[in-house]
Amino acid sequence: MDKSTNSDRNTNTTKKPVNIRKIVFFPVYMVIFMYQWIREKIQYSIRLTLSFRYIGILLITMFGAGLAVILLFGGIRIHAAVQQNQAGIQEILHRDLVAPPLTDGELNGELYALIQDYCQENNVLLYADDPQLKIDLTMDHGFREYGSKSAYGIALNGQHIYFSMQKNFSVGSNAVKMVIYTDIQDELWTLRSLAAIMGMVYLVFLFLALIAIGLSGKGIFQPIKDMTRTVRDISEQNLNLRINVSGSKNELKELALTFNEMMNRLEDQYNRQKQFVSDASHELRTPIAVIQGYADMLDRWGKNDTEVLQESVTAIRNEAVNMQELIDKLLFLARHDNSTLEFLKEEFSLTELLQEIVRETEIIDKGHKIALDIHQEISVHADRARLKQAFRIFLDNALKYTPVNGEITVKAQKDSAWTEVSFKDNGIGMTQEELRRIFDRFYRSDQSRTKATGGYGLGLSIAKIIILGHNGKIKVRSKAGEGSEFIILL
Ligand code: ADP
Repeated sequence: MDKSTNSDRNTNTTKKPVNIRKIVFFPVYMVIFMYQWIREKIQYSIRLTLSFRYIGILLITMFGAGLAVILLFGGIRIHAAVQQNQAGIQEILHRDLVAPPLTDGELNGELYALIQDYCQENNVLLYADDPQLKIDLTMDHGFREYGSKSAYGIALNGQHIYFSMQKNFSVGSNAVKMVIYTDIQDELWTLRSLAAIMGMVYLVFLFLALIAIGLSGKGIFQPIKDMTRTVRDISEQNLNLRINVSGSKNELKELALTFNEMMNRLEDQYNRQKQFVSDASHELRTPIAVIQGYADMLDRWGKNDTEVLQESVTAIRNEAVNMQELIDKLLFLARHDNSTLEFLKEEFSLTELLQEIVRETEIIDKGHKIALDIHQEISVHADRARLKQAFRIFLDNALKYTPVNGEITVKAQKDSAWTEVSFKDNGIGMTQEELRRIFDRFYRSDQSRTKATGGYGLGLSIAKIIILGHNGKIKVRSKAGEGSEFIILL
């Protein structure tokens, strides 16, 4: 007894119970799942959303056009049939008979018979809106009327559908209002066939339109797919990746082109930044190496040899000054790049500032002739210290790149629109190729690189930032071997 219950239990646990609820609701779950899947796809796919919209518009337009055609066609045919019946009946009512058409308000019996024949032949029912006339051919099998005896209406009589219309007929000298019920069964059949043919043609065209929409969408949205793939693949190592922009021009291609242009700018900026960091570290490595060299020399011989000691201290001090100068310039550029550079503008005399700069320069530099060509008092609204820094750069360059005994002219003049300051020298000048690059950070021409006077190639970059920060312009005129002129417009 016990054994059998055990084995029963075993078979129960191995066999899984059939879940009838799951089987019954499976199709419902499937429909819900499909609905959600399509909804999600439409939500996240512009192509599908647009396709569905186009199809919707297409369906509504096609349905509207079809309905309009059927209604117009049906209306014209039914109207023609009613007109024909009206003419037919009127023609009978006007026939010349021996007896008058109406006697004491009643219709001539012969006339009534003729009308009855006509109505039978043409499937027409007639009703006169006059109790004396007693024309009522509507009393048939279960006559039902919608819009009773009004100007227009619909009536059913057995299997037939009638279109009713109220008309005035002249009987003898009287005008009698009658309702003509025209059988429109044939017209409705014709319209049904027309609707079926149109429906089939629409289905074929809808299918073709679906294929066309599907195919056309593919090409249009290709740039978006390319863009997504490219953006996903872009990293620091392959900033040169671009979107393929072949094919016809449209808004998406415009977007792809704009994206590529943005990438060009970013890549350019990134490369410049990289170059800047590498140039800056390179420039800092040299003075550090020099300081290290002299420190080693001091360590070995400087303790006893006062000459070595003095030389090393001087060299270390000079290199420290150079480093300080370089770091100041780098800090200036970094502040500009971080947009934390500020100009404290005030009204001051530009004439005085240029006189001051020339005076200070003349004290240090005795090898050049500096002419100051200013014939008016010019005042400007600017950051005095920054402007002095920029003018110093132009003047120092003029001194650096002009051989001893050369001439430098500092000129300033003002018109209604601009204040013009120029630094002109008759020094080594520049080639066209050099001119294009002098405002690049760390750029130095080969000639100035070999010269001891050469700086770090940051001066003009700084001067440019200062002048542009004052909404000014810099023009350069230069010819190799003949000299240069830097014109600053403020
Ligand atoms: P640097 O510190 O080397 O002078 P700048 O940025 O001031 O750096 O100048 C960049 C380069 O432009 C110089 O190395 C030099 O070749 C050229 N340059 C600037 N001013 C003059 C000038 N007045 N005459 C000739 N070359 C000049």
